[in-house]
Amino acid sequence: MTLLDLFDAARAERGDAYAVNDVTYAALHTGSLRVAQRLAERGLRRGDRIALYCENRIGFVYAYLAALRLGAIVVPVNVLYRAAELEHVLGDAAVTIVVTSASTHPHIEALPAHQTLLAEELEAWANDDDSSSTLPPHAPNVEDDAVIIYTSGTTGRSKGAVLTHGNLTAIASQVVVAWRWTSRDTLYAALPLFHTHGLSAALNGTLTAGARFICDERFDAARALATLRRDDVTMFFGVPTMYVRLLEVLDGPPPALRLCVSGSAALAPDVFTAFETRFGLQILERYGATEFGFALGNRFGGPRVPGSVGVPMPGMRVRVDAAPGEIGELLVNGPSVARGYWNDAQATAAAFVTDGDGMRWYKSGDLALYDAERDVYRIVGRLKELIITGGFNVYPLEVENELNRLPGILASAVVGLPDPARGELPVAFVEIDRPVDAEALRFALGERLASFKIPRTIHVLEALPRNAMGKVEKQRLRELLAQKL
Ligand code: AMP
Repeated sequence: MTLLDLFDAARAERGDAYAVNDVTYAALHTGSLRVAQRLAERGLRRGDRIALYCENRIGFVYAYLAALRLGAIVVPVNVLYRAAELEHVLGDAAVTIVVTSASTHPHIEALPAHQTLLAEELEAWANDDDSSSTLPPHAPNVEDDAVIIYTSGTTGRSKGAVLTHGNLTAIASQVVVAWRWTSRDTLYAALPLFHTHGLSAALNGTLTAGARFICDERFDAARALATLRRDDVTMFFGVPTMYVRLLEVLDGPPPALRLCVSGSAALAPDVFTAFETRFGLQILERYGATEFGFALGNRFGGPRVPGSVGVPMPGMRVRVDAAPGEIGELLVNGPSVARGYWNDAQATAAAFVTDGDGMRWYKSGDLALYDAERDVYRIVGRLKELIITGGFNVYPLEVENELNRLPGILASAVVGLPDPARGELPVAFVEIDRPVDAEALRFALGERLASFKIPRTIHVLEALPRNAMGKVEKQRLRELLAQKL
């Protein structure tokens, strides 16, 4: 089944119910067919690439569904991207149409000509009762390419992960099953739809479950809390920083929710515990990536283990590339794994490994450990971020977790500083909420960690540089270090 088949099945049951914000399933369907008709008139054909470069808004959803109906390939584009990144993504994917909005359009005007359409205009087409809303003649197949999502590119040039209609079906089905998502649920999230977290989990999951998605344009903790307090809202999806902010603004009784999911970066165990105490709910942490959707997640029925990413999602397999009990690269296999990178056989070859028995694994670049005692996987860092100092391995995440426990520290990031004697030395950057003494912090760390793991210096920054998903951009921290030396 394609994702569209799943959506159609949900719509058949839920026609008059709300799907996304105040748009019903029936209206979303009719509106997206009207938009598909207009896009076809503008030359969009099966296999063509259409970029969606606009903030979360209903026009994005219409364009996405319309393009999928036509068998065109959707390229969601990070709204923070500017000239160099836009040129790379639009050029690499050879996009023919770009959907912008009043706020993103100015950034694209100077670029080589593409046919651009405003999301505002698409929204008017969707609401135009006089236009036709027939199904396009050919429905896509499961093996057809559906989306190309450029990876957030915290280092180097971003690559376009190609997900087929079958991949999207697998991701949506997995989250619906794993999290017992039903048509009685209303999800609130303020995750960008250009990222897999917002698109594949929040939007596709909702439309598969026949549920409702209250989709915010951007995250504001006070507004989020007010929305979560609505009677109909049952679920929240967020990145770890959102949970930190929700804890900061909570006053009075917490909202009544049945499920809160965290992902895209490691959730600090302290935040898990504080949230459980104050919101009365254990956050379900899961682990995912653009290239495979979601591979691991804590058990819905519990126990949810802080600092862990649980067990394989339904239908997924993982393997730690190391001796039993050791840390190694996490390999992922399953129906949601991307077929490869767009137009980049070399990057695709480098990202996959095929076993003797023919099983193809995606090399996640994340370092993981299987904790046999709790029967859960733990993500302990990224291969690229691993610091090797005097022959000893330092996993930045371990040091960051310890730093984050100390009073005054809001967030931290540990990177390797080139050193002639030891190869690299760990160095930390911290975001604080009160003055801290770097020496006292190093001393406190020394009580809990081996000496080679203790950051040689601890730099205080007003804010750690983060990308659109709230992930710390370690490359920028390394550049900062290089400038200081
Ligand atoms: P993206 O493709 O932008 O979604 O980034 C995927 C990367 O985010 C993964 O390869 C991990 O490094 C990181 N990530 C996602 N979820 C988690 C998690 N629960 N814990 C630690 N890292 C995570």
